[in-house]
Amino acid sequence: MQNLAVCVHTQKRLYLGLLLASIVTMVAMAASIWYLAVAPGKSWLGIIILYGLIIGVCGTILMAAFGICGMLITIYRCRSVRLLQSPMRTAVNLLFPIVLALGRMCKIDRDRIKSSFIEVNNQLVLAQHLVISPQQLLLLLPHCLQNSECPHKITVDINNCRRCGKCAVGDLLKLRDRYGLVVAMVTGGTLARKIMHQYRPRAIIAVACERDLTSGIQDANPIPVLGVTNERHNGPCFNTKIAITRVEEAIRVFLPDKMNPV
Ligand code: SF4
Repeated sequence: MQNLAVCVHTQKRLYLGLLLASIVTMVAMAASIWYLAVAPGKSWLGIIILYGLIIGVCGTILMAAFGICGMLITIYRCRSVRLLQSPMRTAVNLLFPIVLALGRMCKIDRDRIKSSFIEVNNQLVLAQHLVISPQQLLLLLPHCLQNSECPHKITVDINNCRRCGKCAVGDLLKLRDRYGLVVAMVTGGTLARKIMHQYRPRAIIAVACERDLTSGIQDANPIPVLGVTNERHNGPCFNTKIAITRVEEAIRVFLPDKMNPV
């Protein structure tokens, strides 16, 4: 787990910091609503609506605050707190747009924030210490891994790959054969959702760029997704690459006997 672990320790602070800032923003919003509620000249109905809003916002803040506490405890202990799983999911999904907006205001690169989000997510997934059978594990690959000149239609059936060695797909299929997990290649979020629905995995390893991984992790919720970013030496969405060792490390995280492939 060397590569995954290194990423986790270098990038997670940015996302966690922005999460805390988003809580402060929400508290400021609640205070503004409160101020409006008590301002003179409001009708009873207006006041009731405003109080309803305050309760809603405060409830959300409380839930998100528990979620952030859960994340911090989980990352610190490297062990998941079962009771705080639901608030953690709320915090991850609900506060993400606020985090992005805050990042934009602070002129922080979106990809950096997304990358940090992925590392926090990976740390939370690792802390679950989930052990499953290979058949319950789905490896989702992006279409851009396939060599652009390859004539074989592998999104229809990945077994159409001839394993010629011109891209990583052949080696990824070798991993599938060695470990016995399910592998699928997708062209976008809609197909990814369809595959998830079809196989109903207990965990997913997703290879993609920061943008697709971020939305995929949120879409798959509550299924845990371990994200592995691809390498884009030729620009986005074109002949991308992946280090097979990183994918293999991710696979071994979930399997019962990590040292002895089936
Ligand atoms: S390894 Fe498979 S997918 Fe990649 S170029 Fe060769 S045949 Fe095509």
